[in-house]
Amino acid sequence: MVAMWDLQDFDGHEGVHFFHDAETGLRAIIAIHSTHLGPGAGGTRFWHYENRETAVTDALRLSRGMSFKNAMAGLPLGGGKAVILADRNRTKTPEMMAAFGRMVDSLCGVYITAEDVGINTADMVEISKQTKYVSGLPISDQSDAGGDPGPFTAMGVYLGLKAAVKYKLGRDSVEGVHVAIQGVGSVGGRVARLLAKDGAQLSIADIDRDHANVLAGEIGATVVGLDEIMRVEADVFSPNALGAILDEVSIAHLNVPIVAGAANNQLATPEDGQRIFDRDILFAPDYVINSGGIISVALEYLGEGNAEEVNQRVAKIPERLTAIWEESASRKLPASEVADNMAEALLGR
Ligand code: NAD
Repeated sequence: MVAMWDLQDFDGHEGVHFFHDAETGLRAIIAIHSTHLGPGAGGTRFWHYENRETAVTDALRLSRGMSFKNAMAGLPLGGGKAVILADRNRTKTPEMMAAFGRMVDSLCGVYITAEDVGINTADMVEISKQTKYVSGLPISDQSDAGGDPGPFTAMGVYLGLKAAVKYKLGRDSVEGVHVAIQGVGSVGGRVARLLAKDGAQLSIADIDRDHANVLAGEIGATVVGLDEIMRVEADVFSPNALGAILDEVSIAHLNVPIVAGAANNQLATPEDGQRIFDRDILFAPDYVINSGGIISVALEYLGEGNAEEVNQRVAKIPERLTAIWEESASRKLPASEVADNMAEALLGR
């Protein structure tokens, strides 16, 4: 038997909690990576995992990613993440969400939850009936912080992408810049619209082909195949769908000088950061460029500031990225490694 501490993705996590609710059958894992900067904050993923090992790996990796993301966003929060092991049909009931809320509550504030893949604001409302350690609840006033994090994440990605174009291509505007976008859902779709408004040339791909076609018609983008999008000759590749898409094979085929998008954990392995760097491709570390959503969720939870304050903090994402790229260039280290080093230092590691 392999112990938790010996797993490849175990990174000095402070706690990994396994829960089971007898009544609903709900199984969940809550991983706390670090509380050095504050309570471990990160969303809940509701997903059908082929096996339990994958769920544990996801919880370990995602919670570590949240420590890094929160630290680099300058938030007084640590890193945590929950995964709920859904059945094949992803059956979800209010009772299950209530059971999960009690699990979160039992950790007495060491972990603060919010939405992630498969969890929506209605689920958050159910969870919030059982615990106060929750964020990402619906807001009634649009000037408040909080609500759907997608628009804030998209704004951060848009600003970060423009900063990458300025840094790498020396262009102040994205007019005429060709961006290939993988995934045009909540974040990617918004990024596409913002870029289209600025006159960028867009190639888009989404497994929901109908949705991609409708969006393309609206904003004047070209729809390309799922296998094609990472090989399109363009100025920027923007991954906004899945993680682990940048590996030895895909990096070798990239036909762009810049990679900048929202997808979490884009690098399949840490070595892929070096591979991108060796190809002289400018990489925007995902947990830095996609931190707009957590900034909004965090300010909502902390009760600090409003949507305006969130926007002001999101506007600082380009500065952070530029500092990483400058250090990467001067020390001849991959941007991913520079960002990890900065985050580790903030975590006191
Ligand atoms: P979403 O589910 O709204 O959109 C994802 C889109 O990608 C969907 O339209 C889906 O059809 C498409 N897709 C899935 N697999 C694909 C594939 N193989 N090729 C092309 N398209 C594919 O999710 P989202 O909220 O827009 O998040 C996108 C990414 O950004 C995710 O990796 C997420 O973890 C990350 N992220 C999101 C936020 C946020 O605030 N929503 C914050 C940080 C990071």
